[in-house]
Amino acid sequence: MTKFNELNLNPKVLKAIEEAGYETPTPIQEGAIPAALEGRDVLGIAQTGTGKTASFTLPMITLLARGRARARMPRSLVLCPTRELAAQVAENFDTYAKHLKLTKALLIGGVSFKEQDALIDRGVDVLIATPGRLLDHFERGKLLLTGVQIMVVDEADRMLDMGFIPDIERIFSLTPFTRQTLFFSATMAPEIERITDTFLSAPTRVEVARQATASETIEQGVVMFKGGRRDREASQKRNVLRALIDAEGEKCTNAIIFCNRKTDVDICAKSLKKYGYDAAAIHGDLDQSQRTKTLDGFRDGSLRLLVASDVAARGLDVPSVSHVINFDVPGHPEDYVHRIGRTGRAGREGKAITICSSRDEKALAAVEKLIQKEIPRLNNPIEADDSKADSPKTENQPKAADTKKSDRRKSEPRTEREPRKDREPRKDREPRKDKEAKGRGRRDDRGPAVVGMGDHLPSFIALSFDERRAG
Ligand code: AMP
Repeated sequence: MTKFNELNLNPKVLKAIEEAGYETPTPIQEGAIPAALEGRDVLGIAQTGTGKTASFTLPMITLLARGRARARMPRSLVLCPTRELAAQVAENFDTYAKHLKLTKALLIGGVSFKEQDALIDRGVDVLIATPGRLLDHFERGKLLLTGVQIMVVDEADRMLDMGFIPDIERIFSLTPFTRQTLFFSATMAPEIERITDTFLSAPTRVEVARQATASETIEQGVVMFKGGRRDREASQKRNVLRALIDAEGEKCTNAIIFCNRKTDVDICAKSLKKYGYDAAAIHGDLDQSQRTKTLDGFRDGSLRLLVASDVAARGLDVPSVSHVINFDVPGHPEDYVHRIGRTGRAGREGKAITICSSRDEKALAAVEKLIQKEIPRLNNPIEADDSKADSPKTENQPKAADTKKSDRRKSEPRTEREPRKDREPRKDREPRKDKEAKGRGRRDDRGPAVVGMGDHLPSFIALSFDERRAG
């Protein structure tokens, strides 16, 4: 087995690696580091959790330590699809470069340009950026990329999902033709193949096995969930979620709960909080300071439940997560592997529980095909009949006195509320004339109209409502 000190890395980098407690390079590191140090382009096909960040930061730092900056222009550039991932790469850079005098700037959205401008003006060795913010700086005339000798593209498949490929192509064209490129993607979609064919020159290809096989320490289970009435399904599902968390009890020291949609991330986090759970949401629409605060809380253990979207959770390095709960089966089966890979890290035991509603059964079959095993079925802790969904008898239901009625109206999605039993549904009301109500013609299966809210629905209620109908 190769050792780090056989890889030709800078001795000060080796010292930092030792201090980080790494004993041997991971397969992607073993494959990518020697090629990168020889100045070759690298195409790394690997996912988060394989050690891929170090596989490009370690050689990059070694190469930068060999040379000298000229004319204050950035000498290297790392592009990441999300702010979180960029911030994490920056942290890795700080860890591995701590015994060297190299400078970096983190260029991500959601923070002011001023500080970033000041760093760029002073001159940095490494830029770590999301594509949009980097191009914003370029367009403001603040940045020249003609000094970039090493360019890293991390998680290119995610860039593709997020529509960043044109930006990436543009950024490639702003850097010198002679640059060295280290390019990482979990999968090789045809569009990614096109980019690598265009911009990489005779790359060394390093492919590591899917993480699917590396998750032996993760206990997996799926709860098949059959919703009752359509209009109550979402709230029943949240009920199942709470019951699952309760059933795990103290074993669930902390958990990441994944939802497929941002709106559900918000609704789930709000609902959990309402029921007294220590939960917060993280997704791309929250401002940076809020995201950082939430993540820091989760890392230091002061926050127990992190409700997240795939994109926001991408690349998060949270070393000890006891549980991952998939509120939805992910649409892309690879995301399942990513999600559950957040637990059971570094040989620790972890548990991943997925809630699968009837409409997600196909997605579940795709996941099982990818991981080549059947996920054990768990008992549904709650029989999904209408009478139990979020009913006032549910154990964890907050007492009525805890929440003022007016607050509840503001904060509860429509489906969380019991229809009033003391009244017949209003039959005299005209169906809504808006185009959604007319177009889909599905009013009938929504059960009795919820009365008493008039037309002044808070916008998020309308959203979850529409989403549910769309599903
Ligand atoms: P990554 O795939 O870059 O997200 O890395 C996943 C995790 O593995 C991070 O927590 C790293 O700190 C850790 N790691 C990276 N390289 C090694 C190594 N050679 N030995 C042990 N842990 C590592």
